[in-house]
Amino acid sequence: MTIASMEFGRNRLGKGDRIAIVGAGPAGVHLAHLLKRRGYRSVTLFEREPGVGGRAMSVRHDGFVHEMGACYIPEHYHEFRRLVREYDVGAFDTPKGHDRSIYTSEFDGTMREYPIAAYGERLMEGLVRSGELGRASKVSRLVQLLAAIRRYFRLRTRLLGDSGYPLGVTPSTAAAAELARPFLDVAREHRLQVMLPYFRLAQSAQGYGILETIPTLYVLLWNVPDLVTAFIKNRLGIARRPVFRMLDVGIQSVFARVATADGVDVRANTAVASVHREDDRVRINTVSAGRTEVHDVDQVIFTIDLPDTVRLIGKPTAMERDTASAITGSTFVTTLFEADRWPVAAGIAYVIDPFRPGSTFGVSGLRDVRYRFPEASAARCAAVAYQYADRLPDPAGETAFAARFDSEMATLGFTGVHAIQRKEWPYFLRFTGESIARGVPWRLFESQGTQRTWYAGSSACFESLNDVMRYNLLLLERYAE
Ligand SMILES: Cc1cc2nc3c(=O)[nH]c(=O)nc-3n(C[C@H](O)[C@H](O)[C@H](O)COP(=O)(O)OP(=O)(O)OC[C@H]3O[C@@H](n4cnc5c(N)ncnc54)[C@H](O)[C@@H]3O)c2cc1C
Repeated sequence: MTIASMEFGRNRLGKGDRIAIVGAGPAGVHLAHLLKRRGYRSVTLFEREPGVGGRAMSVRHDGFVHEMGACYIPEHYHEFRRLVREYDVGAFDTPKGHDRSIYTSEFDGTMREYPIAAYGERLMEGLVRSGELGRASKVSRLVQLLAAIRRYFRLRTRLLGDSGYPLGVTPSTAAAAELARPFLDVAREHRLQVMLPYFRLAQSAQGYGILETIPTLYVLLWNVPDLVTAFIKNRLGIARRPVFRMLDVGIQSVFARVATADGVDVRANTAVASVHREDDRVRINTVSAGRTEVHDVDQVIFTIDLPDTVRLIGKPTAMERDTASAITGSTFVTTLFEADRWPVAAGIAYVIDPFRPGSTFGVSGLRDVRYRFPEASAARCAAVAYQYADRLPDPAGETAFAARFDSEMATLGFTGVHAIQRKEWPYFLRFTGESIARGVPWRLFESQGTQRTWYAGSSACFESLNDVMRYNLLLLERYAE
């Protein structure tokens, strides 16, 4: 540890420290980029895969880029957009395919399609039928909606603060208890029912949990005011700009370009096998092409999922063990496939039923290549299908997903389906409600740097490119020299 880093009251990342970052996904590459910009001299990334990007994975098929991982970029991803601009990596698509609006379908053995607005109406009717909402004219419904949005924004600021960073403000015990509760209960208490159709689409259809069970923290983290406003303006026809955009060259290229242009020391194909913390250093054991190596550094920053982090640490502290056991998660499976033709009306179709409680999994979304590249062949379709399960991957999962994929594709009317590539991702690793109530995510942040160990990446904050980057900025603002 440098002298400068000892002078501060709390743990510090010293500029002269030898720093190892475990994982070269978006969090790791972005952090290395920020550290380099701040004048940190010795930063090494260890990545077990052949290239950088992690869950930002873009593949080329027949000349077109398909996203197998991170895909959509809303307007408020300022830090990601800065990288795209400064490193001149491609351009944002306004998808111009054969139909740009998202359609939703319900899966009940037969497949019915609704334009997104009609599906929203249907959810609204359901709320009226169940007595959650009274009958109302269009105008008074709009007034209700605007009032509910205001209440939602106030609730968000009260519980999360307005630092602009994920987990930037430690909540009071009472606020933490509220953040831990299932969002549907909190929404009812704060009279937000009129926003539920929005939340079903903006939260659950993105794989961010089922409203009946997801802790309120994660709804508030994802649904920042900019996103809610963009969605609502779009739905009301006030703004024609799409809420989400895609990057023509693929998101993975951004991280690859940044790592190369900044000259980041990335050790690819190098898996970290174990980490041992000693009084004066951290010893990192890696395996690369069957060869083991030892690296001594001053600080280690983990960007991999917290349970994996704790498995790698030789003697985890009680706090680290508690943190790892406080994590649960989901599975997202992406399948790049070809079929004889694209039988549904829209470029993107969602199968909504898997987002109800008790469901196991199903095809949750399909994205046709012509959604972005209308010039792609209409004869034989290429698309990415998403399947979501509200549980972590299990060894038997992949076959079960494949079987479900086959049967649902057939129900949707696809023929001649051929899966080209399939990826099963652990997704949206998150703190349980019980641990949120105990303040574990914020305690982790406060303990950063203890025993020369730092935690970043999506499981420490939230599963989105924007959140991992904002968390990096927060980390450095608080702890860097
Ligand atoms: C299907 C899917 C769709 C998504 N869509 C979006 C979207 O539209 N918009 C959005 O903002 N976000 C999206 N996300 C989320 C986004 O991709 C993640 O939040 C982001 O990639 C998290 O970055 P990370 O660096 O924390 O973790 P990761 O991306 O998982 O990177 C971690 C890296 O660590 C490496 N690693 C793991 N263990 C070791 C080890 N022992 N040694 C060395 N290296 C190791 C991994 O190989 C990986 O490269 C999506 C994710 C998925 C899976």
